[in-house]
Amino acid sequence: MSLEKFLLEQGLRISIDGTKGRCLVADRIFTPGEVIISQEPYSSVLDSSSGNRRCDNCFNLSSNLKRCSACKSVRYCCSSCQAYAWKRHKSECQMLIKLNEEKQRTPPPSLRLVVRLVIKRILQQSGVLSTTADDNFEIVEALPTHFSETQEERLVLYAQMANLVETIVAPSEVDLKDICQLFCRLACNAHTICDEEFRPVGTGLYPVISIINHSCAPNAVLLFDGKRGAVRALQRIEKGTEVTISYVELAGSTKSRQQALKEQYYFVCQCQRCMKMETGEGILEDAILEGYKCSVQQCNGAVLSGTDQPGSHCVTCGSGCDIKKFKLSESAANKLLDEANTATKSKDDAPARKLFEEAEEIQKEIFHVHSVHLMRTRDALMKICMSLKDWQSALRYCLLTLPAYERAYSLKSPLVGLQYFSLGKLQWFLGNSLEAMRALTRAKGILSVTHGSSSSLVRELSGTLQEATLESAYKDQSPYGLVSMGMDISSL
Ligand SMILES: [Zn+2]
Ligand SMILES: [Zn+2]
Ligand SMILES: [Zn+2]
Ligand SMILES: [Zn+2]
Repeated sequence: MSLEKFLLEQGLRISIDGTKGRCLVADRIFTPGEVIISQEPYSSVLDSSSGNRRCDNCFNLSSNLKRCSACKSVRYCCSSCQAYAWKRHKSECQMLIKLNEEKQRTPPPSLRLVVRLVIKRILQQSGVLSTTADDNFEIVEALPTHFSETQEERLVLYAQMANLVETIVAPSEVDLKDICQLFCRLACNAHTICDEEFRPVGTGLYPVISIINHSCAPNAVLLFDGKRGAVRALQRIEKGTEVTISYVELAGSTKSRQQALKEQYYFVCQCQRCMKMETGEGILEDAILEGYKCSVQQCNGAVLSGTDQPGSHCVTCGSGCDIKKFKLSESAANKLLDEANTATKSKDDAPARKLFEEAEEIQKEIFHVHSVHLMRTRDALMKICMSLKDWQSALRYCLLTLPAYERAYSLKSPLVGLQYFSLGKLQWFLGNSLEAMRALTRAKGILSVTHGSSSSLVRELSGTLQEATLESAYKDQSPYGLVSMGMDISSL
C-alpha cells in the first residue's frame, strides 16, 4: 500500500506548500482528544540514564529487567519483548560484544540510533524484516536533510561518526555520504521520546509523524506510550486544515522560539502566534513573557529586554526604564540559578532551595508576575519543596506558577494540565478536598484530551479525584465539619 492510500484511510492527506514543503492535512473532522496518527519508531534508542530502568524493546519501566546474556548491554522486561527484538538486536549484539572484548566504551545513543537505522534498512532490504506503508526506508529517505544549511563543524562531526558506523556495520553495506545524510536527517526530524510527564526517555525517528509541521499555537500534540508515538487533536480540526504540533518549548517569547526553530530546524516560523509580533499585537506579550516589568507601580505593562540601548520604554504606558540596571540584577539572579541547578543535580535539596529562593527574590523585582523566568524558578522551588515534603510551600509556589503557565502555554496544553494535577495532589495532601476536587477536575479535562482517557496518568488522576470527591461529600454531611485526614474512604 502506498503512503498516500494509508493516510487517506485514516482521514489524512499530504499537501505541498511553497515555503513549508510537505504538510499533513485533515481530510475529515477530528474531535478533541482523537488520535490523528500513531506510529512505532523506524529506529529508536533509550537515553543512557534510562537504559537500566526501561525495557529496550517497549521502553516501559520495569523493576524486573533481564539483561541480554550475550552483550549484557541491553535489558528487556519480558521474554516476548526479547524475542521480538532479537532480529533487530542480533547484529547490534555482536557489535557490542566486540566492543566489550576490546574494552571500548558503548557508543553514545546518537550513534546507536544511526547504527540501528542502518541495520533495519539492511534487514528490510534482504526481506528478514517486512515493510509496511508506514514502516519502510523510502519514507525515511523522503524526509528533508537540510544538508546544505548544516554548519561545517557539524558535518565534520557527522563524517567522523559515519566512519564509526562503517566500522561497526559491514563496510560493504554502507556508503559514507548516505550515513552523513542520515545524521543530518535525524538532527532535524527525530523526536525526543518522553514519559507522560514530559521527562525525556530516549530518541526515535517517526517518519510519518515527522511530516507534521510546527506551529507555536499547535492544534495537535505528540505524546508517547512506551515508544509508540501518538498525535492527538487538541481542538476540533476541520476538514482541509493542516495538522500542527510544536517542535520547541512554547513558553518563550517569539524571538526565543524563532531562534530555537532556526537553529535546529532551519526555518522561520510564520504561524498565527508569530505573526502577531509582526503586527505589533504580540509585542506586549513578548515583553511580559521575557522582558522586564514596568517600574510604574500601577502599570501592569512590561519592557522588551532584547534591546541594546541603555534605556527603553514600557510597551503599555511609555514610561522610561533603566535597562542596564535590570540586566545587572538579571545576571546576579542567573548566577544564583546556575549554583542552584548544580546543587539540585547533586541532590542537595536544602541548599538548592535557599539559592532558588534568593534568585526568586531578585527576579520578583525585575520581571513581570507572568514572566517565564520567574515561572521556571518557582516551578523548580515547587519541586524541591515537594521532595522536602514541605507541602504548604510547594502549594504556594504551584499557585504562583499557574497564571504564568496559562499565559505562556495555551489553556489546553498538557503542561497546564499536569500543573493542575500537581495542584490537586498538593491540596489533597493538605486535606483541602474541595480545592483538590476542583483542580483535579480541571486537570482531567485537559489530560483526557492530550493523553487519552485510558492512559495510566489519567487513570491515576481519576482515582485521586474519586477519593477527593467522596471525602468532600462526606465533609459536607459531617455535622461537626471535621474529618480526619488519611482515613480509608472504603471504611466510611
Ligand atoms: Zn518490554
Ligand atoms: Zn545483546
Ligand atoms: Zn510560530
Ligand atoms: Zn508601564
